[in-house]
Amino acid sequence: MDFALSEEQTAIFDMAHGFGQEAIAPNARQWEAEGTIPKDLWPQLGALGFGGLYVSEEAGGAGLTRLDATLVFEALSMACPSVAAFLSIHNMCARMIDAYGSEDLKGRVLPGAVAMTTVLSYCLTEPGSGSDAAALKTRAEKTNEGYRLTGTKAFISGGGYSDGYVTMVRTGVDGPKGISTVYVEAGSDGLSFGGLEDKMGWKSQPTRQVQFDACPVPHGNLVGTEGDGFKYAMAGLDGGRLNIAACSLGAAQQALTQTLQYMGERQAFGQSIDRFQALQFRLADMETDLQAARIFLRQAAWKLDTGAPDATAFCAMAKKLVTETGSRVADMCLQLHGGYGYLADYGVEKTVRDLRVHQILEGTNEIMRLIVARHLLSR
Ligand SMILES: Cc1cc2nc3c(=O)[nH]c(=O)nc-3n(C[C@H](O)[C@H](O)[C@H](O)COP(=O)(O)OP(=O)(O)OC[C@H]3O[C@@H](n4cnc5c(N)ncnc54)[C@H](O)[C@@H]3O)c2cc1C
Repeated sequence: MDFALSEEQTAIFDMAHGFGQEAIAPNARQWEAEGTIPKDLWPQLGALGFGGLYVSEEAGGAGLTRLDATLVFEALSMACPSVAAFLSIHNMCARMIDAYGSEDLKGRVLPGAVAMTTVLSYCLTEPGSGSDAAALKTRAEKTNEGYRLTGTKAFISGGGYSDGYVTMVRTGVDGPKGISTVYVEAGSDGLSFGGLEDKMGWKSQPTRQVQFDACPVPHGNLVGTEGDGFKYAMAGLDGGRLNIAACSLGAAQQALTQTLQYMGERQAFGQSIDRFQALQFRLADMETDLQAARIFLRQAAWKLDTGAPDATAFCAMAKKLVTETGSRVADMCLQLHGGYGYLADYGVEKTVRDLRVHQILEGTNEIMRLIVARHLLSR
């Protein structure tokens, strides 16, 4: 068993970290205030190979493993979890098209997606169905040319901003077997967006409802086989959960690094606060928790890469464990900054706000527990 990163993996991490610190971190607060990420950032990430991290090399992607991808998200999240998480969603969509799309669809969508001149959103949640995603109601009625979509998707990251929407729709019976996946291009007739959601964190990412009003989608934009869409959506989420966990990990580790520096500078009772043993013990606990989370996350990624039968349960456990650890550590870092932690200038409060949603999306952490419990009970 070898726990070391290879030279290539270290280089991937360093490249993502370097780009994040140079091109993202100095702008993260401004993008948060503006409520948007400048579109010209994405082709720069595309040029690094981050637009199709685990899109196959034949389709122009980087063909990396899931473990490699977690390194990219951990490193980028040290600059800004909101930007890193948006890239994760895009990659999840690109991979779904690569894995299940027809050659024609791949040829039309993937070159732009990999270069990130085309940014993709993932549309599963609806106003009436989140955790119970298989209850979705957006209908895709068959027409001579393909489908006509009617319904509303809720909480869509990149709604009204992205260039393409990988959308789960109902083409058949109630339940998971009646769901298909289609690719909807921005600018399609009958496609519109709700108002910008005012959120606690992830503020630089625009989140809106995505509305379909008799929106025509050509047959060629069906992803894979009709009726298999829910399977594709769930398969995409295994990797998405690892990425989100990696985003929590990187941002929390960054908060700890910042906190160490702050504690060395901040004086109280005639000494720097890092001299208080009670606080040193907190630092030790945080570092231990993050290191344990990192190993567990990488093991789950390895299981997904190697097609282990318990990979889905491990992805769920990793998502739960790492996102909860990340939030707890970020909150403690804020505490160790005292009142300054509560001020935007120090950046830690943004991390606390950004990480909170990682326990809610890509399946809530209650749903992660459900997946793990089912796995245990089925044995
Ligand atoms: C900022 C943000 C961005 C998002 N981006 C996207 C996106 O890009 N694409 C997309 O499709 N979705 C997106 N989502 C939606 C997200 O995935 C859902 O919010 C999430 O799945 C939870 O669904 P819900 O909000 O309907 O909560 P509900 O499903 O209504 O859950 C409410 C509560 O009940 C609990 N619960 C529900 N069922 C059970 C159960 N069986 N057992 C135990 N507890 C249960 C939940 O854990 C939760 O605590 C985003 C959400 C947010 C906040």
